[in-house]
Amino acid sequence: MRWFDAHNHLQDPRLGNDPLEWVSAAAAVGIAGMVVHGTCEGDWPEVRRLADLCPSVIPAFGLHPWRVSARSPRWRDALIECLDPAPHAVLGEVGLDRWILDQSLERCVELGTGPRGPASLEFQLEVLDQQLVLASERGLPVTVHCLKAWGPLMECFRGRPRLPRGFLLHSYGGSVELVPELVRLGAHFSISGHSLHPRKAWQAEVFRAIPSDRLLIETDAPDQLPPDDWVSHPATDTRGRPVNSPVNLVRIAEGVSGLLGVPIEELAAQCEANWMRFFGPPFLGETGSRVTAPAGSAGVAEAVLPSDLGGSCSGRR
Ligand SMILES: [Zn+2]
Repeated sequence: MRWFDAHNHLQDPRLGNDPLEWVSAAAAVGIAGMVVHGTCEGDWPEVRRLADLCPSVIPAFGLHPWRVSARSPRWRDALIECLDPAPHAVLGEVGLDRWILDQSLERCVELGTGPRGPASLEFQLEVLDQQLVLASERGLPVTVHCLKAWGPLMECFRGRPRLPRGFLLHSYGGSVELVPELVRLGAHFSISGHSLHPRKAWQAEVFRAIPSDRLLIETDAPDQLPPDDWVSHPATDTRGRPVNSPVNLVRIAEGVSGLLGVPIEELAAQCEANWMRFFGPPFLGETGSRVTAPAGSAGVAEAVLPSDLGGSCSGRR
């Protein structure tokens, strides 16, 4: 079985100063690809460096809703400068977050909003819209973060032309009722290890309502730490606090397999086909077996699986 992490932040300093070690450790347990998501102008260069060094890393560049108020006046130019040389990049992590607006300023600063705290929902929407326009123009897949802002997010997607490559709702936390409309709007959904906490048991019903050809799994490392039972590779940040590691993906997949009632081999094959189709173009044209997209899918029509994904990184820092 091979596994693909739809969403992590390998560039995050909380994962230590040698992120390439995590790529090697991930490859050793069968993790053949990962999409590494930038969140702000400050971390995009490191995401680009990791993707340049590691064939298994797909770079994602975007301004996260928590980072909107700290953006520079030339943030959009900086984003374009990252996207121009990376035609197979993903646009993300972008989105809307109303939860952060209820946190104390101290907590917000700790979470990385910058000294002024989070941007209002209105500004978040403006920045999201500009990024979705870029994704449309360039035909890029989009990764979306949404926390307690489902109404505004639905309005945003209803009111605009469908994105050519669709979008991924990472660590999906919305309701089961929203799933059919989101599918029509072009959504994929990824499940993180956070959903394995007993208090999240209600989500099993939601996940079973997701069409199998729209399903992905993710770690969101170093965030969204699963319960201890589902942590195969414990890790801590420089202050000794537990963080989620990208290598936990396989154990998380075992938990998700149980939540969905789907055999692990079947889940692996489905997630691989979905990952290739949704994030596929970096691998188009390489040799390997073909995966045909199910009818009505949101991604590209066909992807080609390379015979040897992953491999070793070509340099060390
Ligand atoms: Zn994230």
